[in-house]
Amino acid sequence: MSEIQNASRKTILPSVTTDLFSEIERMYSEEGKFSDESLLALHAVFGAPLERALEMLEKDCVTLLTTSNDIRQALQVSGGRGELYTLFPNINFCPCLAYAHQVITSQIHVSCKHVLAAKLSQVMGRTIRKEASPEEVARILCLSAHADKNTLEF
Ligand SMILES: [Zn+2]
Repeated sequence: MSEIQNASRKTILPSVTTDLFSEIERMYSEEGKFSDESLLALHAVFGAPLERALEMLEKDCVTLLTTSNDIRQALQVSGGRGELYTLFPNINFCPCLAYAHQVITSQIHVSCKHVLAAKLSQVMGRTIRKEASPEEVARILCLSAHADKNTLEF
């Protein structure tokens, strides 16, 4: 299978994770925290990137840029060294090098810490919401689409 086919196959998280996240969201809203059971289930699917995502969430590292009508949105996740990764909401893709190497090429992991941090931050209601013009959101998404050759994080 070519790298391009792998990349398109991997941009959709397996459907099992959609069910897992809705269950975890339900449990989080009832208990106000991630139960041990939730964390074990997430770890079984995502492995080491989950630990790194949880560390990242100790800081408010996820911002949702949204137009006033919520039609156009982009997520921005700040990495450990001040870099900023732009993600499309609900799409499993990140322009970081870890994603390129560990998800697309070697297929060791299902996703990277930035995608997971963004997802978990939304479950926890800790995503910072920032309003932006449609042009600004479009510009950021376009820049991100071409950023994969310029990222530093591994
Ligand atoms: Zn990433």
